[in-house]
Amino acid sequence: MAVRPDRSVASGTIAWTQVRDEIRARGLRWTAQRRRILEVLEATRGHVTGSELVERCRERDPATTPSTVYRTLDVLEELGYLSHSHSAAGREEFHVMPEAEHAHLQCRVCGRTWELDADEAESVVDPVARSHGFAADLGHLTILGRCAVCVSAEAAEPRLPA
Ligand SMILES: [Zn+2]
Ligand SMILES: [Zn+2]
Ligand SMILES: [Zn+2]
Repeated sequence: MAVRPDRSVASGTIAWTQVRDEIRARGLRWTAQRRRILEVLEATRGHVTGSELVERCRERDPATTPSTVYRTLDVLEELGYLSHSHSAAGREEFHVMPEAEHAHLQCRVCGRTWELDADEAESVVDPVARSHGFAADLGHLTILGRCAVCVSAEAAEPRLPA
């Protein structure tokens, strides 16, 4: 399992001044745009896509450059403040300061997602670890399929013959 610096704080707050120092330590300039990205992230909880973050930054400053937002997200992920997962469309979703590692279930029909806690996800990938010696990255695991509601809706409404 990937070892990530533990930055989870019980209150769910991040020391943003520390983030600024860490970004500078990476040799990146501390700009108004980067500050704005952090402001947007500070107001964000749960799952959010990169394009949603770009949109929120643009609401604050229409001159926001998407490449700057994405580059900053990459750096913040390297620093352990964010993690990403993938949705059915392959698009990346970011978790702001994930409190616990978890995998995802996503329904292809209704698009809803559920979180699978580490223990449950572990039991899914355990046989793979045993047969292939493969250590899965749980936070990166998204299982696509159909949820219980969509499965029973399909059973109740048989498709018309083509
Ligand atoms: Zn990925
Ligand atoms: Zn569904
Ligand atoms: Zn999640």
